[in-house]
Amino acid sequence: MVNGESAPPTRFDVVVVGAGHGGAHVAASLRQQGFIGSIALLGDEATLPYERPPLTKDYLSGDTEFERLLIHPASFWHEREIEVLTGRRVVEVDAESHQLRCADRSVIGYQSLIWAGGGSPRTLTCPGHDLTGVHTVRTTTDVDSIRAQLSSTSRVVVVGGGYIGLETAAVLGEAGKHVTVLESQDRVLARVAGEPLARFYQDEHRGRGVDIRLGATVTRIEGSRSRVCGVTLSDGETLPCDLVIVGIGIVPSVEPLLSAGAVGTGGVEVDKQCRTSLPDVFAIGDCAIHRNQYANGEMIRLESVQNAHDQATVAARVLSGVAAEYDAVPWFWSKQYDLRLQTIGLSRGHDETVVRGDPSTRRFSVIYLRNSRVIALDCVNSVKDYVQGKRLVTESLVVDASLLADSTTPLKAL
Ligand SMILES: Cc1cc2nc3c(=O)[nH]c(=O)nc-3n(C[C@H](O)[C@H](O)[C@H](O)COP(=O)(O)OP(=O)(O)OC[C@H]3O[C@@H](n4cnc5c(N)ncnc54)[C@H](O)[C@@H]3O)c2cc1C
Repeated sequence: MVNGESAPPTRFDVVVVGAGHGGAHVAASLRQQGFIGSIALLGDEATLPYERPPLTKDYLSGDTEFERLLIHPASFWHEREIEVLTGRRVVEVDAESHQLRCADRSVIGYQSLIWAGGGSPRTLTCPGHDLTGVHTVRTTTDVDSIRAQLSSTSRVVVVGGGYIGLETAAVLGEAGKHVTVLESQDRVLARVAGEPLARFYQDEHRGRGVDIRLGATVTRIEGSRSRVCGVTLSDGETLPCDLVIVGIGIVPSVEPLLSAGAVGTGGVEVDKQCRTSLPDVFAIGDCAIHRNQYANGEMIRLESVQNAHDQATVAARVLSGVAAEYDAVPWFWSKQYDLRLQTIGLSRGHDETVVRGDPSTRRFSVIYLRNSRVIALDCVNSVKDYVQGKRLVTESLVVDASLLADSTTPLKAL
């Protein structure tokens, strides 16, 4: 039943907080597992759950309408008797009484709580960071306001050379805007990919007219009549612009859980069943810190649709009394121009990279190894490598680097 159709009860068997990828999937999976109790899906956005990846791709370019982003239509939730309560921000969790308090002062009880709050975009702190025309990209509202400003924009500065920044730069560059990307590290994608891939994307963007500045630190956003008009760097240069897009990561949205006593710093810690340290409280998705075998057994957070979905499946199974543990292999994708990047595994901690194929053909893969074992692949326009390389990662195989580099030998043969 969707918000507004009837007054919801104030206590549910399962309350899911966060109506994004993880929240939507866990609620739907519970019903798929045969769970018959009452379910509420609470989100602070005004809309039904929608897909976020298109926000820096087809939705930003205007090629996809909002309706096509919906994870499920309203009828889906209605038929499964899942109460979707939009515009509800949870501000307090009382773990003892099993109750939540929302910003509108409503109180909702739960038997089990699944926290899927994702994160809010990290913002700049320098003078001018809050001027009109400075945007982040996390919600359709963010993108709608960027799009509303595009017709009067000719110069854009993108702060952050991660996937969000680069995808945004690609779309706005193709829309005819003059785009500058500022990255404080000495290469783009520094947090998530190896040097050969970073170099390839830098060249690709520069070849298409995007000005990529490495080692660049923003000290001030310049404004005129409360509107952004430039970005000043630590070397004193000011780049004139009409629009600033900030893509410098997220801050996990977990304050109410941590205030209630959940263990975690920069997220909330969960075990293999996605249980937090609070009784009957689970957490999934971008905000969940978990031990990941593909990160050498370290406690990490992953920001990907795969992770949100797979943790949602685990939490739904556990709540339905089915044995389940999270041990999925991480995968991710990015789309920039006509380049489809697909990644499998996690490259952090690699001590060797192998380039398979020729980047100048715009179809190649970067394979990452640690102690001679394959730990991850980044595949650019190479679906075959992506599909066939999965086993090398899941089985952590030792393969000779020269064989990996030989693109005439299919990976499945290794
Ligand atoms: C622009 C963009 C592009 C992306 N592209 C890709 C991609 O190509 N591939 C990929 O794998 N991943 C991509 N991602 C990442 C992916 O979208 C996230 O990893 C995924 O959405 C995480 O799901 P989640 O459920 O943890 O969080 P979210 O989907 O962010 O959902 C969390 C929801 O909880 C709400 N919320 C937070 N706190 C509260 C509260 N206290 N009360 C109520 N509601 C609350 C939030 O407003 C939000 O609606 C992209 C993300 C963005 C922003």
